[in-house]
Amino acid sequence: MTTFHENYDVFEELGKGSFSVVKRCSHKVTKAEYAVKIAHVSYANEKAIRRIEREERICRKLNHINIVQLHNVYTERETRYLIFDLVTGGELFEEICNRKYFSEADASVCMQQILESVQYCHSMNVVHRDIKPENLLLSSKNKDAKIKLADFGLSVEVSNEKTYWFGFAGTPGYLAPEVIKKNPYGKRVDLWACGVVLYILLAGYPPFWDEDKYKMYEQIVHGDYDYPSPEWDPVTSEAKNLIDSLLSVDPEKRFSASDALRHPWIANRDRVASKLH
Ligand code: ADP
Ligand code: MG
Repeated sequence: MTTFHENYDVFEELGKGSFSVVKRCSHKVTKAEYAVKIAHVSYANEKAIRRIEREERICRKLNHINIVQLHNVYTERETRYLIFDLVTGGELFEEICNRKYFSEADASVCMQQILESVQYCHSMNVVHRDIKPENLLLSSKNKDAKIKLADFGLSVEVSNEKTYWFGFAGTPGYLAPEVIKKNPYGKRVDLWACGVVLYILLAGYPPFWDEDKYKMYEQIVHGDYDYPSPEWDPVTSEAKNLIDSLLSVDPEKRFSASDALRHPWIANRDRVASKLH
């Protein structure tokens, strides 16, 4: 058994979260580049160990063009190294900041890839629970870069369409109403988050926002968002209809990933998604 550091050279930091740091690395022999997610978990912290083991187990079974691919894992003392294929286009978050907002045609292409990754996760009975632009990476700096869903740190394994209380987890602005209400929940929480992402892609700002988190939660549970003038005026009614179908407060009425992929704004992009906005 060789160690991670015997096999890989480690370079700059690519990102950081609450439980781990992600760095660029390259294999000493093949020179192939990867992103390694390094998590220190003390033996005493059983919860942290369970979390990282769950992330590892889930990532091992996923293989999809729109998901960051796990390549290898090293377990050494109190450190876990999860080695992923390197993605070099940065976060969708930065891209939104750079471009302010996306044209409908570009947002539709983006959304289709996000929905395909979610549809695949759900077909594998995995709920991501933390879909947001920081966890959506771009495969390269090119204009036709693929979107890659990353960070399965909060993901859970579900049994088909059953709902269950998996705990209060996610990122405040993207939490589905049923999570805030502490109701049992399931796959549809990811579609709510997709609705928030789509809104942000088209506007450059989020649908629910207040400095006071609890006031924002009030907006979310009431589905209290709108399309302010003038910036939303040129946006097609089909785009707004898809957002509304994803931001349905009732999870039973909310679109599934397959429903959303069949929506004309995605499926008939060339005819429907306006190139103007
Ligand atoms: P955390 O659970 O700490 O949020 P993530 O898995 O989201 O960890 O990774 C943190 C950040 O590291 C990401 O937002 C991204 O910027 C960067 N990152 C993660 N995986 C990769 C990868 N495969 N290639 C390039 N950068 C990555
Ligand atoms: Mg993350």
